[in-house]
Amino acid sequence: MTTSSVSWQRIRDILSPNPPTIAILDRITRHFGSRLEFYFQESTKQESSVRFRRASAQDELERIIVTIHTQPPAIIHECLHVKLAADGFPLLLGKKPTGPKAQFEFDSARSLENVLSHAVFLDQFLSFGFGRFDFATDVQKSENLPEFEKMIDGVLQNGLLTPIARGLWNRIYFEQLIADRMGMPNKRNGFLSLGRKRFPGMDADADWLSTWFDRGDFRNAVLFPSAVNQMLERIGLASVKWSRIEPVAGRLLLVDVP
Ligand SMILES: [Zn+2]
Repeated sequence: MTTSSVSWQRIRDILSPNPPTIAILDRITRHFGSRLEFYFQESTKQESSVRFRRASAQDELERIIVTIHTQPPAIIHECLHVKLAADGFPLLLGKKPTGPKAQFEFDSARSLENVLSHAVFLDQFLSFGFGRFDFATDVQKSENLPEFEKMIDGVLQNGLLTPIARGLWNRIYFEQLIADRMGMPNKRNGFLSLGRKRFPGMDADADWLSTWFDRGDFRNAVLFPSAVNQMLERIGLASVKWSRIEPVAGRLLLVDVP
């Protein structure tokens, strides 16, 4: 991956035709100061990203590395991720996964954090005059339904792994539901039919998730950790008991459960 360091001023210049977006940049540069670093991505194949680095679980953020393309929507999208951290939303802090189960939970937590962040800031993104299709992220990447079905059936062949299959289905369904609520392309109905076939009682889970999302507690930084934990319990990720997500000093921490 080829990247090159970019000054805040250069970012400001790119955003200058759209002053409200500069206010976002100013907010995060004021909050994080020299810890915030921007890099341009030279390959169009690489997605933009934000990485939050800290020395250890209890430490403050040491560096925030934002890797972006040069287009204003991509820049603002990533800046809004950083702004959530500045606004006190907890960040996921992952323990290094030690096996496939831990990896699965870690990936699930990451993915949920990402889609929930998008749901929180989409409206602000649109308020700058960008379109939904400029949002350009994984929300739009629709899962491949037949492949997912094959994978779930593979997992279900081992009875012990049923909770994983259910948690995974719920997670993917939830991502589709969020995409649907955000007005993005999605396969919510397809995943719902698949869920009904494989996991009896799935409609109740799906209804619960809709209600949870529409209540919107996760949009509030203070309510976010307990709302997310409640959701993880419900969708079966927490019931798997390898790890849980815990608010620690304003961050989400993925911890081992003995
Ligand atoms: Zn994003």
